[in-house]
Amino acid sequence: MTAPTWLYENFDNSGSAIGFRVNAKLDEVQSPFQKIEIYESTDWGNVMLIDGAMMVTTRDNFLYHEMMSHPALFTHAAPKTVVIIGGGDCGTLREVLRHPGVEKAVQCDIDEQVTRMAEKHFPELCESNSDPRAEILFDDGIAYMANCAPGSVDIVIVDSTDPVGPAEGLFNKAFFESCHRALKDDGILVQQSESPLVLLELIQAMRAEMGKAGFTTFQTLPFPQPCYPTGWWSCTLARKGQGFDFREADARAKPFETLYYTADIHKGAQSLPPFVAKALGEG
Ligand code: SAM
Repeated sequence: MTAPTWLYENFDNSGSAIGFRVNAKLDEVQSPFQKIEIYESTDWGNVMLIDGAMMVTTRDNFLYHEMMSHPALFTHAAPKTVVIIGGGDCGTLREVLRHPGVEKAVQCDIDEQVTRMAEKHFPELCESNSDPRAEILFDDGIAYMANCAPGSVDIVIVDSTDPVGPAEGLFNKAFFESCHRALKDDGILVQQSESPLVLLELIQAMRAEMGKAGFTTFQTLPFPQPCYPTGWWSCTLARKGQGFDFREADARAKPFETLYYTADIHKGAQSLPPFVAKALGEG
């Protein structure tokens, strides 16, 4: 590539696209599971794509990684054991390990190549990989959760690709049943839940599958994410019974810095826009 050019992810569901101006392709690998590409952009740092879908940019990944981790960690009374399914770029792991009370964080991504690419092109996301509390595994997250000891985990974070290919089985009842079994009674499941603007049906279907698996209370938190389709994304928290009173005082006094997450952002995200609340039966 000699002159900057535009790189797009077209999104058929909404007839829209997300694009970045890029200077060069830095890397590409076809793993047994998916094609991983890295580009250098003119304004957003490096960009990772998996099978043509934007995963991470240097400039905006903090929005997603902070919202996938801190709301759940500041809702659970005392999270000590956290499992991340997917998350191979290691950004969610880094955020989870910012919590001093976490004693063990397991990251289980099916594809080692995602982590190797992140180490090379997003080293800042991998800066906590050698933390003694971190365990980084390369295995199918579906099998990992199915074999997890019952009642052994405080928080499961499903930081997955879209529900196609290897991630398809991370959105159904059988997988959520495994998560339900692995979680302690006060445990929390977090799943990245796509765009509330154009994929509300997916969020509804995902909550329904979680419900069939035994989860009874749900909380969907929207947040901005420019590099994902529509630029507006969400995560969904699920619990076995309790509500979602978050530890606001602890969030205000958090002993680490964040770029997006604050107690007030957390509170605000709990107030769903009316069209989303209505679709999710909360309006
Ligand atoms: N935040 C991104 C998004 O929403 O587009 C996802 C980023 S993260 C890099 C997604 C990860 O999920 C990928 O590294 C992929 O290898 C992993 N993944 C997909 N299916 C998986 C499975 N069955 N078990 C474990 N990891 C899986």
